Amino acid sequence: MSDLLAPPLAPLAPPALAAGEETLFPPTYALPRLELVSGRGARVTDAAGREYLDFVSGIAVNALGHAAPAVARAVARQMRTLVHVSNLFATPQAQALARALRDSTGYDRVFFCNSGTEGIEAALKFARVHAAAHGRGRDFVAFRGGFHGRTGFAVSVTWTPSYREPFEPLIPGVRFADYNDLTGLDAVVDSGVAAVVVEPVQGEGGAVPATREFLHALRVRTRALGIPLIFDEIQIGMGRSGRLLAAEHYGVDPDATVLSKAIAGGLPLGAVLLREALAAPLSPGMHGTTFGGGPVTTAAALAVLEKVRRPTFLARVRRRARELDAALQSLVAAHTALSATRGLGLLRAVNLAADAPFDVPALIAAAREHGLLLVRGGARAVRLLPPLIVTKAEIDEAVTRLDRALTSLGQKGNPR
Ligand code: PLP
Repeated sequence: MSDLLAPPLAPLAPPALAAGEETLFPPTYALPRLELVSGRGARVTDAAGREYLDFVSGIAVNALGHAAPAVARAVARQMRTLVHVSNLFATPQAQALARALRDSTGYDRVFFCNSGTEGIEAALKFARVHAAAHGRGRDFVAFRGGFHGRTGFAVSVTWTPSYREPFEPLIPGVRFADYNDLTGLDAVVDSGVAAVVVEPVQGEGGAVPATREFLHALRVRTRALGIPLIFDEIQIGMGRSGRLLAAEHYGVDPDATVLSKAIAGGLPLGAVLLREALAAPLSPGMHGTTFGGGPVTTAAALAVLEKVRRPTFLARVRRRARELDAALQSLVAAHTALSATRGLGLLRAVNLAADAPFDVPALIAAAREHGLLLVRGGARAVRLLPPLIVTKAEIDEAVTRLDRALTSLGQKGNPR
């Protein structure tokens, strides 16, 4: 990597770690954490005034970056008009968003909730109702390496044993199969199955894209048996792949797609996009939510969708993705501690070589010391999730910072 491109870096200062967090919160996160106080675009500032390039984006949430003016305006306006009414009543914002999602994706109906995991809960519950209506089996098929959330149904279809096992017994009837493996697919997806749930790109698993053959085989098999195919696009959806939905890259039409994360510009919202056949057996009272699809979050999401669905916006994301991929390929070529880079769109990862003399947390800490925020993906990879509005200069700067972080760990430049 050339240091000539490197912009001046802030002098290294200790990161601002929140004091006393360990006594405030249960130990579900590694504490103390870096304390962030403000952000704009692709940058955040910590409590000590140090600036970072944010390639975490709230874990693939802040599509339009921090403090996006269009989202701030929409939310401020809605906060002064009508904040909450519950789903006993309709609002113009929720209807407008449902219509816009329907028009942009071709789905028939939209169920709103508050988070990704709730979207998965809803989709799997709807699949069970569909199975009952058609006299079919009630099992689910999910994939090794997959992540779908932390609540009952969602954690039951999540692969990582350490996320599941402390809470067993979970929802029974989950069958795990190998991701991107066509052998044995027909045996595991049989008439005892109520739904197949899959990430077209495994996010938490380390930015691993599905192959075209795999998703097409799943679609052919599930269609033949009348089993709903559910795409979890909570992380890769809403433009991160360079298309509004990653399914468009594959030419596969699932029966349901779950969105969340980026959908409302940083506010909590989830949306389950449904084909009519999956919605039809539902009836009032079967499922619901107090907050889901409220006027403030849906107003924010309208502002996000209005920008993200534009062909010019998506073309720019694809361009940035190509630039980031090329820069990461060069980084892998320059550092023997890295074995590969992969991903789709602006969901990318670099993988540590088996003999790397440091681990993923050490690389994330070194990147932070060099002013770049990154997040783990799987056991051996670090994810890069810039906001979708990231510039070419910010990508160059981030990769330079990562290059310096790797160098600081003593791994630069062994020719391959
Ligand atoms: N599904 C995928 C693919 C995710 O990446 C996540 C979160 O990281 C979830 C589901 C769960 O979403 P949430 O944390 O909003 O419940």
